Amino acid sequence: MSNMQAVSGTSEATDVEAYDVVVVGAGFAGMYMLHRLRRLGLSVRVYEQGGGVGGTWYWNRYPGARCDVESMQYSYSFSDELQQEWDWSERYAPQAEILKYANHVADRFNLRDDIQFNVRVEQAVFDAGTNAWQVAISGGKTTIAKYIVLATGCLSNARVPDIKGLSDFKGEVYHTGHWPHEKIDFTGKRVGVIGTGSSAIQSVPVIAAQARHLTVFQRTANFSIPARNAALTSEERAAIRTNYPEIRRVAREEARNGIYTDLPDRGALEDGDNARRAKYEERWRRGGLTFMSAYNNLVVDQAANDTAADFVRAKIAEIVKDPHTAKLLQPHNHPIGSKRICIDTDYFATFNRPNVSLVDLTSDPIEEILPHAVRTVAKEYEVDALVLATGFDAMTGSVAKIDIVGRHGQTLNRKWAEGPKTYLGLMSAGFPNLFIVTGPGSPSVLSNMIVSIEQHVDWIADCIAHMRARGFEAMEANKEAEDKWVAHVNEVAHTTLYPQANSWYMGANIPGKPQVFMPYIGGVGAYRRICDEVAAKGYEGFAMTAAEQSRAAAAS
Ligand SMILES: Cc1cc2nc3c(=O)[nH]c(=O)nc-3n(C[C@H](O)[C@H](O)[C@H](O)COP(=O)(O)OP(=O)(O)OC[C@H]3O[C@@H](n4cnc5c(N)ncnc54)[C@H](O)[C@@H]3O)c2cc1C
Repeated sequence: MSNMQAVSGTSEATDVEAYDVVVVGAGFAGMYMLHRLRRLGLSVRVYEQGGGVGGTWYWNRYPGARCDVESMQYSYSFSDELQQEWDWSERYAPQAEILKYANHVADRFNLRDDIQFNVRVEQAVFDAGTNAWQVAISGGKTTIAKYIVLATGCLSNARVPDIKGLSDFKGEVYHTGHWPHEKIDFTGKRVGVIGTGSSAIQSVPVIAAQARHLTVFQRTANFSIPARNAALTSEERAAIRTNYPEIRRVAREEARNGIYTDLPDRGALEDGDNARRAKYEERWRRGGLTFMSAYNNLVVDQAANDTAADFVRAKIAEIVKDPHTAKLLQPHNHPIGSKRICIDTDYFATFNRPNVSLVDLTSDPIEEILPHAVRTVAKEYEVDALVLATGFDAMTGSVAKIDIVGRHGQTLNRKWAEGPKTYLGLMSAGFPNLFIVTGPGSPSVLSNMIVSIEQHVDWIADCIAHMRARGFEAMEANKEAEDKWVAHVNEVAHTTLYPQANSWYMGANIPGKPQVFMPYIGGVGAYRRICDEVAAKGYEGFAMTAAEQSRAAAAS
């Protein structure tokens, strides 16, 4: 269908492009959103600032990048044919394979025709007269759409630290979240990695194997569990495929974090010391994020949490030979799991290599970057290349970069100045027909994100279908429902240990960002039930208006 059309409700025919829906971002969220909306017969345009599909997996090409939820689960479930035919090579697929999968999905479902690459959405302005969004994209063009879906990603706005002298550094500088497409070879080089979050924990062992010397600059020690990555056999793949209906059901409906595993039946203090240690040993041997599923109270009970944290700290001390380095690598300033737990392949053992050293920035902070060195208070570390593994302005960063103007000229950035406010993480009052996939206030980053993405996309698609079938033009979260939801998200967070950590869940990694716990911690199953119930009650907490009503309101 041609999208060069007159826009209903404007005084004259204009030749701007108009679509039913504009989707921002072509990661897993944007791709599936496009697929679902197309099946409703809607015209859709996806804008993606990158040069290809895949989002996270398009940008994060750093050495060692791979998923930390097992691939047979970290994959779409919406098409049984797709999940039956795709062969994952390893328990945790590397970035290149996940990107290949994203491209396969784009081809298989013929998505590319409706995606425009290398285009940024700069601004979106709601026009109450037409109940449509005017979307300004890079290059100076404006598109009009009845609905806009922000599939902009929770971890897509790379955070470059504000360190004095960084721009004057004469060597190579890379950010893990914006890794170049060509192969970077550190052979023979002195490399500095700044940051010790998940990306550093994955890349440090790989960089150390190449570099002449690797200096890791650590501000916060993090908990990490061995991944135990391995090739998947065809028997393992077949067993999971046969059991997919149950695996996907449990992940969606029962597991708090959207990951199928044997669910714990008791708290950590209900077992004696030996039984508890045996259980942690078993989970440690098995590897992966489900270590935290050993007991059902690890993120709510400090004493229970201490038992798991002590176990991991003891493992670090066992692995790392130099006691001083081991001590620095042992996290002490947050409960285990209150920051996204990392999984690794030989991260701690890498510090036994003679070419690797650790600098503790809490006792010896970075003062400045010199043309060929990192200078801390105590010392200068000469480096040829710097890797910034400094994470993201999480959850709100990419949304905040778009100038979103809702009703009465209110901007989303102004509304969210004290922290994001949404109803169900899906919509924000005052911004009609604007949906967010895995927005703040939904389980998002606390879950297997593909489970959360599919749930949100299905909910949004069903909601738009509902509106169209009943002649509604505009939909908006009610302020009271939103306030109640924000309070609930906050209340649930504070029944756990999560808010104790200075984490990116709290916005604590971004100077000046308001510190509120952003994701919804109630669990994906409970959250799904709430969303389904809201829909079943005719989208309770949302206001829907018919065309005539909204035009009358706009005219008055
Ligand atoms: C290194 C890394 C590993 C991860 N591993 C896991 C894992 O194992 N399991 C898990 O559950 N989650 C993981 N995640 C989280 C991951 O982000 C999600 O799983 C998922 O890929 C998010 O998909 P998305 O489509 O929502 O967002 P993204 O993949 O981030 O895609 C968003 C896209 O929107 C584009 N965009 C943003 N703003 C604009 C704009 N204004 N105009 C145009 N385009 C725009 C971006 O360029 C990006 O391509 C990981 C994240 C990282 C960074």
